[in-house]
Amino acid sequence: MTLPETLQPLQGLLMISAFILGTVVGSFCNVCIGRWPAGESVIKPRSRCPKCLNSIAWYDNVPLISWLALGARCRHCKAPISMQYPIVEGLTGLLFLAVYWRFGLVFAAPVYMAFCASMVIVTFQDLADWTIPNEITFPGIPLGLVLALAGMAWGESSGLRVTDVFDAMLGMALGGGILFALDRITVFILKKPGMGFGDVKLLAMVGAFLGWRGTLGTLVIASMLGSMVGIATILYFRYFGDEADADTTTEEPEAAENQKTEKEATSSDEEITLEGHYLPFGPYLALGAVIYLFIGPEIIEAYFSIIVPAPEPIILYDGMELL
Ligand SMILES: [Zn+2]
Repeated sequence: MTLPETLQPLQGLLMISAFILGTVVGSFCNVCIGRWPAGESVIKPRSRCPKCLNSIAWYDNVPLISWLALGARCRHCKAPISMQYPIVEGLTGLLFLAVYWRFGLVFAAPVYMAFCASMVIVTFQDLADWTIPNEITFPGIPLGLVLALAGMAWGESSGLRVTDVFDAMLGMALGGGILFALDRITVFILKKPGMGFGDVKLLAMVGAFLGWRGTLGTLVIASMLGSMVGIATILYFRYFGDEADADTTTEEPEAAENQKTEKEATSSDEEITLEGHYLPFGPYLALGAVIYLFIGPEIIEAYFSIIVPAPEPIILYDGMELL
């Protein structure tokens, strides 16, 4: 990361600021994750305790710190506050710090901070609600294209990964196209519910931000992570199957979990179809996109420099070419 000489003494301060900004944005991400699935506004009512509906004072809403200070419980009714809040805040803080560290003080830094924050929302909303918010993907797709256009005008000094709008358009079309085709194949040929249209829009957005290489890179990383987790889960249940079942039942009586199990219990048919077929692929795509953002192009470059070595120099000797 490069910083002008005169700004070097501010390095530590800038890093701390990036982290704190990330935790504040992460706090807003929590609001989005909680309200978007219910179709509620993320601005209008102040933050409230979901149990006792008392509004949360500013001093009880400081990212990370308030959760610890309150001992993970509401000040008024002592209802437990989910671990998701500090996890999302801390994670967003670390991602903002990493973006600043990786890209520096450039136009691309706030762009990729926002991109990482939206991937955090996608991950946690898909895990909790099995949906990927249109509130992210609908504006995200055109925004990615506009930013590539800006990168085209601005060039390398913008710090943007994609500085060619055609690359962004190809990435978007490829991302949407591959997953749309996969979805149709599963529905019409395998006669199973597809992977979900949210994933199609998500990979189209990732492609608009990261180009066609980014689309493929994200898909490869996501599939690898998905299969590793899949294999680990199968092995875990094979060897610790009974204990794992016992664990999940004791964890069940959490406030939010309860609602979900009640909803599922009322329609057991629906439960089977969702449980059996829906693959929450969003978190893997989001993580794949973030990994690609930070190190993807460098990995591709290193890979090709290994398998395609630089051409041997042609030695001219007495006017003859020796290869
Ligand atoms: Zn409360």
